[in-house]
Amino acid sequence: MDLQLSGKLALVSGSTAGIGYAIARTLAQEGASVIVNGRSQPAVDEAVDRIRLETHGTVTGYAADLSRADAAEEVVRRHPGIGILVNNLGIFEAKAFEDIPDEDWQRFFDVNVLSGVRLARLVLPEMKRTNWGRIIFISSESAVQIPTEMIHYGMTKTAQLAVSRGLAESVAGTNITVNSVLPGPTKSRGVGDFVEGMARSSDKSFEQVEAEFFDHVRPTSLIKRFASPQEVASLVAFVASPLASATTGAALRVDGGVVKSAF
Ligand code: NAD
Repeated sequence: MDLQLSGKLALVSGSTAGIGYAIARTLAQEGASVIVNGRSQPAVDEAVDRIRLETHGTVTGYAADLSRADAAEEVVRRHPGIGILVNNLGIFEAKAFEDIPDEDWQRFFDVNVLSGVRLARLVLPEMKRTNWGRIIFISSESAVQIPTEMIHYGMTKTAQLAVSRGLAESVAGTNITVNSVLPGPTKSRGVGDFVEGMARSSDKSFEQVEAEFFDHVRPTSLIKRFASPQEVASLVAFVASPLASATTGAALRVDGGVVKSAF
């Protein structure tokens, strides 16, 4: 299937590793020009080189913390014509509710929610001018099944659903679509490191810890394994494409069936 992405310019926030990297690589493979982002210049350079090598696509880098207003303004100024925005960057941290101070609530909101809101606001005028655009928020199954071990993270992921639905409604009747994608447990760099750390400290293999995780922590998973970042990226690439023109205002799950709901 040709996703018809050539000629489109895509910005994927937080794309030097994990799900963001897989999205950036897939969009480049499908013909889009891609801006890769991460906070450190060496990590961005390495990701850009790898994606160029793997896809022969048009890839540039932008090293900055895109949860900052000045960085968001600069990337949009430097790269006019962004038609596809994937708000992927995000942080998580397990912490009991009583131990989460105000500063953490604020930081999680700023990084996970406001960064995407701000970028969407900045790219929207150009999308409206050209009457075409794709804005995708990478939310989480945690938007629906709030993890008690990180309620502040769950709050940000639910907020993304509200923003994307509201924004989709605000551009009704245009060729701009706005959606959220909800991955389930995915073996990204962050999660892979976390599980490998648990395996090392308990003298178990990765596979043992993975099996225990799906037995006890996420028993509703239907695939009973971590998804790969590529499995998430494939859905995102489709939603980002002109082919997905009737998909908007939606919360799309790629969660291995972990959310116990038929719709
Ligand atoms: P990851 O930690 O593996 O990679 C995140 C990337 O974002 C890295 O390249 C990191 O350097 C970059 N990054 C983080 N903060 C940044 C910032 N302020 N500015 C620029 N870059 C920044 O993460 P991941 O697991 O691939 O998660 C990506 C998204 O998917 C997040 O929004 C996360 O909430 C969501 N998600 C992940 C999972 C999972 O199981 N991995 C499940 C559901 C949702």
